Amino acid sequence: MAHEESITTRGVEQQSVRRYVERFVEDGNLATRITTVLCAIDEGSRRDLMMDPRFRISVDLIVPGTGRQVWMSCPHPNGGGSRSVVLKQRLAVCGADFAHYVIAHELAHACLRNGGWGGIEDAEEAADALAAKWGFARPQDGTGNK
Ligand SMILES: [Zn+2]
Repeated sequence: MAHEESITTRGVEQQSVRRYVERFVEDGNLATRITTVLCAIDEGSRRDLMMDPRFRISVDLIVPGTGRQVWMSCPHPNGGGSRSVVLKQRLAVCGADFAHYVIAHELAHACLRNGGWGGIEDAEEAADALAAKWGFARPQDGTGNK
C-alpha cells in the first residue's frame, strides 16, 4: 500500500540521516535531536548540507578549568569557506524545544552561508526566520531551561 511505503521510505531516510549525524556526533541524545531537525527541514536544504563536504557538525566540549578552543573558518556569503556548525554539549540535556530551535538556527546559518534570506538582510534574523519556517521557532522564554 502506498501509505505504508511512504512510511518505510521515511524510515530509511531517517536512518541514513542518523548514520550521517553519527559521523560527527557520538550516538546519544544530541545525535537524536540533530537527526530530528535534519529530518524536519526541507529536502533541498537537507541534501544541500549533507552532500557538501565543507559542511561539518562538531560538538563544543568544554572542560571545566581549561577553557575551550574551536578553530574554524567563517562561511562567506559567496559560498566559499567552511559551513561548520558548532553545537554545545548542553543541547543534549536542555529543553527539547530550545535545543531543536538552536540546532535549526545553526543549520539555517549553514544553509544561508551566514547571509540573509529573502528580504531579510540581518544574518541572525534570517537564520531565525528560516528555522521558524522549518517549524522550529525561537521558544518564548528563550533560556533552554526545563
Ligand atoms: Zn545565529
